Amino acid sequence: MCRFEFQTKYQTEDDCEKRLFEHRWPQGFAYPSCGHQEYYHVTKRKLYQCKKCRHQTSLTAGTVMHNTRTSLLLWLCAIYLTSMDKRGFSALSLSKRLGLSYWKAWTMLRKIRHAMKSHDSTYQLTGIVEINDSFFGSSTKGSSNRGRDTSKTAVIVEASTHGDAVGFAKMTVVDKVDSATIDHLVKVSVRGNRPAKTDGLPVYTIVSKSGHNHIQEIVKSKNAHKVLKWTHILISNAKSFIMGTFHRFGKKHLQAYLNEFCYRFNRRKWELQLFDRLVIASVNSQAIYIAELTQ
Ligand SMILES: [Zn+2]
Repeated sequence: MCRFEFQTKYQTEDDCEKRLFEHRWPQGFAYPSCGHQEYYHVTKRKLYQCKKCRHQTSLTAGTVMHNTRTSLLLWLCAIYLTSMDKRGFSALSLSKRLGLSYWKAWTMLRKIRHAMKSHDSTYQLTGIVEINDSFFGSSTKGSSNRGRDTSKTAVIVEASTHGDAVGFAKMTVVDKVDSATIDHLVKVSVRGNRPAKTDGLPVYTIVSKSGHNHIQEIVKSKNAHKVLKWTHILISNAKSFIMGTFHRFGKKHLQAYLNEFCYRFNRRKWELQLFDRLVIASVNSQAIYIAELTQ
């Protein structure tokens, strides 16, 4: 959706409410607990009261916008800007663009990224799954060996590959790159016993023990760029994205940045639909509270 179309479609709270209603209840209203479909619309308070049990709900109840005091128009603007700008938005840029406090912009962005993550976690990887690890952060002198630099944050990257093409990708911050971590991630994110392709690091042999055909590619300096091509590209692009937009690799927020990077990457072919898809993800995601965001 282009900016002009967005501005034309969404001018008032009513416009936004109508749109969210369509995404929240695509088959028509149904009260969450009793399923009854008839309701009174308490327009002033944006509430929907079930005609049968008399309980009330709102469009944002139980979603990432739960209990929000921010207007729906601001929410949709934030979702629009986040979805349409390839470089993503930092809290500082969003606060300036929408005239919000930094804290407000920061919490909105974190909630939007939570919706991205929740939506992506419903997908599993297929094809031949490339698995690789990388360390994010600046280097400490003399500790360049893989896995030994504790100043950096370890990330496991998994990507579905189909022939020469890459499909869906996931990136996960981990405490360490060991067999137990790899085993757990593969169980969660890879569908069935799809083959897994890794380099020669011994910790990856665990994938064959859990039933996956294990394809090991040994990295030599000559073929380094060909081995595990897609995960290398993803790692390099994720680092550029994070440095370009957020200017830091701090462990505390790295997973949220990676979620945003993967969400965009996984929908790279549907650029024009990104806004609508992110609105749908936002009204279908579970609420998240400040305490969880600031952990
Ligand atoms: Zn009811």
